Amino acid sequence: MNKSIECNDLFPGCEFKAQADSEAELLKKVAAHAASAHGVTEITEDVVAKVKGCIHDA
Ligand SMILES: [Zn+2]
Repeated sequence: MNKSIECNDLFPGCEFKAQADSEAELLKKVAAHAASAHGVTEITEDVVAKVKGCIHDA
């Protein structure tokens, strides 16, 4: 099952969306985007928990 996320849920106003086959793969994509677009270089457990809360089944 595909997983998807909308960055808007984390950073309101951001139109980035990502999809992946697994949660781990999606987290990687979000981490890369957050680093380049939002300057978030430290993916803490808090951040991971927040991201996971925004992941939907697609
Ligand atoms: Zn974003």
